[in-house]
Amino acid sequence: LHTRQISMAAKSLVSKLQSSGLLQSQAFIGGKWTNAYDGKTVKVFNPATGDLITEVPCMGTKETNDAISSAYDAFKAWSKLTAVERCRILKKWYDLLMAHKEELAQLITLEQGKPLKESIGEVVYGASYIEYYAEEAKRAYGDIIPAPLPDRRLFILKQPVGVVGAITPWNFPLAMITRKVGPALACGCTTVVKPSEFTPLTALAAAELSVRAGIPPGVLNVIMGDAPAIGEALLASTQVRQITFTGSTAVGKKLMAGSAPTVKKVSLELGGNAPCIVFDDADVDVAVKGTLAAKFRNTGQTCVCANRVFVQEGIYEKFGEAFTKAVQKLQIGEGFGEGVVLGPLINDAALHKVETFVEDAISKGAKVLLGGKRHSLGRTFYEPSVIANVTSEMSLAREEIFGPVAPLLSFKTEEEVIQRANDTNAGLAAYIFTENMKRSWRVTEALEYGIVGVNEGIISTEVAPFGGVKQSGLGREGSKYGMEEYMEMKYVCLGNMST
Ligand code: NAD
Repeated sequence: LHTRQISMAAKSLVSKLQSSGLLQSQAFIGGKWTNAYDGKTVKVFNPATGDLITEVPCMGTKETNDAISSAYDAFKAWSKLTAVERCRILKKWYDLLMAHKEELAQLITLEQGKPLKESIGEVVYGASYIEYYAEEAKRAYGDIIPAPLPDRRLFILKQPVGVVGAITPWNFPLAMITRKVGPALACGCTTVVKPSEFTPLTALAAAELSVRAGIPPGVLNVIMGDAPAIGEALLASTQVRQITFTGSTAVGKKLMAGSAPTVKKVSLELGGNAPCIVFDDADVDVAVKGTLAAKFRNTGQTCVCANRVFVQEGIYEKFGEAFTKAVQKLQIGEGFGEGVVLGPLINDAALHKVETFVEDAISKGAKVLLGGKRHSLGRTFYEPSVIANVTSEMSLAREEIFGPVAPLLSFKTEEEVIQRANDTNAGLAAYIFTENMKRSWRVTEALEYGIVGVNEGIISTEVAPFGGVKQSGLGREGSKYGMEEYMEMKYVCLGNMST
């Protein structure tokens, strides 16, 4: 389809989604659609066209406190439901998310820009956390401890922490929310969710579907607007017992420090700087396919994106050629276009950041194998790029790129690449490509990362723990460990139990 036709189609989608009730322009507090007290709004744009989609309330301290009170009141009844009852309600929510997969995906593409196929993938992936934790609710049991004295009986009760404040980024407008809300609601917590102001619409659609599923008022609240004011109100409240955040490391550190005065639990999923290591003994086709997926998914705007592609000397030229050929085939355009696999970057600031890193690398001797500049489509489109001769000192290798640029760095030995891969404050995901099993194990153990993909570029699933070490975060999302984040342990000692 011609670009103009796609833009027109996007506009007609907006009115279709509005009439289906899935495009909401108000926040959601205590089961009610709500405006800001002072009527202020934030504009939400389609990053691919620059068109205004709608405006949502610009909320601050007062509205955040309302949302906290609603969640606090709702906690009493929600936490008292049996796990089976909560499971049934959450499963209904899952069914509705899946039944409205297409519309939710359209919303994601509209506000975030990613290709429609990826948006559908995100809905399926995001919804899987609701289904998984609906079931996991039934397994939130504690432990019996063998007592050291004959007249004692010791055990551990697991109980929901209470009200959870969840702050999420724009790159996965649905999944970053369900990864938190799924486990929190399953074990009996209630939530105040603050999505990114760039992508609040998918969050609001999920809230609308939560109503249809029968999730009671106050259990899930969605507010947005003045992020620092909302953050401060969540941090200041003694009723909020946990902050769970996905986003930049800088904001994560602020939230962690701000949690200290009220000693809240904190879970953080922060930035990454993933090494992707291709050894001489790798299967080149597997390495190209895996690196392509790890680098270019979501146009490179993923925390687990391959950020530094280390290629061993003996295979450097061969891999570089094969990889560049594969990248050349990636079709870029508006997310609704047929065959499109790369969309725009989220905004001008993101485009400028990518551009600055690439220009800096070129000025220091890096070689452009492909791309290396803005795309002729204009706006925030950047050409899929492969940059060779990158060194570990360049900002292209030191910072999180968050764009469709793959820097290639060469290395000689296993020891050297381990040292260079670990030479960063980030520690989220790493990838290795090798056919040598012993090496894969050795290197996996040596990498200071929370997730390692071996001969695989797509690693995230609801059944496994996702999270980072060092400054990439605290805690895990997904799997049984993801629910532990939202539960407190209560140790109980029964005395005088001798029979
Ligand atoms: P960001 O930190 O700018 O924003 C994240 C959220 O925090 C948004 O909702 C934003 O409005 C809010 N926020 C900003 N300032 C705040 C403040 N002072 N108080 C409270 N809230 C505040 O990050 P982003 O640009 O939206 O997302 C990109 C970043 O997220 C990247 O660094 C990426 O690596 C990271 N990320 C990490 C994971 C992970 O699982 N580790 C997943 C996705 C994204």
